[in-house]
Amino acid sequence: MKYSQLFSKTLKTAPNATDTVNHRLLVQAGFVRQVMAGVYTYTPLGLRVLNKISQIVREEMDKIGGQEVLMPLMHPSSLWKKSGGWDKVDVLFKLKSRTGKDYALAVSHEETVTTLAREFIHSYKDMPMSIYHIQWKFRDELRSKSGIMRGREFLMKDLYSWHATQADFDVFYAKAKAAYLRVFERLGLTAKVTEASGGAFTEKVSYEFEVLSEAGEANILYCQMCDYCVNVDDIKTYHEGDDCPKCGKDKLRPAKAAEVGNVFDLGQKYTKAFDLTFIDEKGEKKYPIMGCYGIGISRTMGVLVETFHDERGIIWPRGVAPFEVQLVSIGGGSAEVEERAEAVYKELTQAGVEVLFDDRAEVSAGAKLADADLIGCPTRVIVSEKTGMQVEVKKRSEKDSTLMEVNELLKKLQTLKD
Ligand SMILES: [Zn+2]
Repeated sequence: MKYSQLFSKTLKTAPNATDTVNHRLLVQAGFVRQVMAGVYTYTPLGLRVLNKISQIVREEMDKIGGQEVLMPLMHPSSLWKKSGGWDKVDVLFKLKSRTGKDYALAVSHEETVTTLAREFIHSYKDMPMSIYHIQWKFRDELRSKSGIMRGREFLMKDLYSWHATQADFDVFYAKAKAAYLRVFERLGLTAKVTEASGGAFTEKVSYEFEVLSEAGEANILYCQMCDYCVNVDDIKTYHEGDDCPKCGKDKLRPAKAAEVGNVFDLGQKYTKAFDLTFIDEKGEKKYPIMGCYGIGISRTMGVLVETFHDERGIIWPRGVAPFEVQLVSIGGGSAEVEERAEAVYKELTQAGVEVLFDDRAEVSAGAKLADADLIGCPTRVIVSEKTGMQVEVKKRSEKDSTLMEVNELLKKLQTLKD
């Protein structure tokens, strides 16, 4: 992609009225635009990142046997009345049609998915079964802040599973937790697993996946010596400075964290409410055990920016960067440099490398380099009068640059991929 053709452009100065780093940098670098509080448009740059996060999540859900579906955003009120959510869920957006009928905008999909599962799950032989989708959700927040980390409209992956026995559920629950940790590892994030109450969904214990972040809204206590972590908003048993109850080697420290995922043991709450039954091995009618498993895709994008940035801009982890390489031509209009940069662009893209080529002739070297830092592609490649038949390569996360042949660069990029 040539920068001159790119739909969105960077802003010279930081936008006003942004309360978090992710909001400021994502707007300034041209990844998103706010339509209203908590509601954002993703530009081609932003959508590339969102799609890459979705793809990593999709691959890990497929690995544990999840099958992808797509459920609607708008639900009849009857579904939400059946589960009790119509009156109990205070953040549920409600709509009225011109014929006077009531509808809800999806805040979650338990109601829809359990109704769907009734069509296909009849016997213990039909389980275990798990399906997921990556779909927008709505929350009627009183205050929406923290950029794309707390939206009124946000993209989520939610997976649902059904099991004939608690033992079978427990096996899948463990698999799903492991898959979640793989997702966050691939995204370059260190997620801590905390125990929390299930909130509106269930009386049982749930697990939250938290990333330490000043922009997060959760208050946690964690141990630096082991993986112990609790959400202090839910669990009052422990306090700052207490010995770690798991390893005893460190005191519990307080931190702000952002919840990027959660898994819930729903028990038989929804299968009973929607009368989803199956016939077990002995011919008896029973209710399946159900689980739900969420990952906030758009929120995770915000958390990534909060985690990976410096004073100059975003530093995208390789797996989710909008482009792998930002190619910059510095030549003040020299035809020779422009031709050479064009040739490098062709060579890289033909080798399958995703390149954002800053081909603007009228823009200063300083402005181009500042934009490359702001947008944050992992590798910056410069073609100038000084580089000759080589290119100057610098990682966004490092200070030093190296001169090398394009072939050598391709080899290096390939090594990172393997
Ligand atoms: Zn510990």
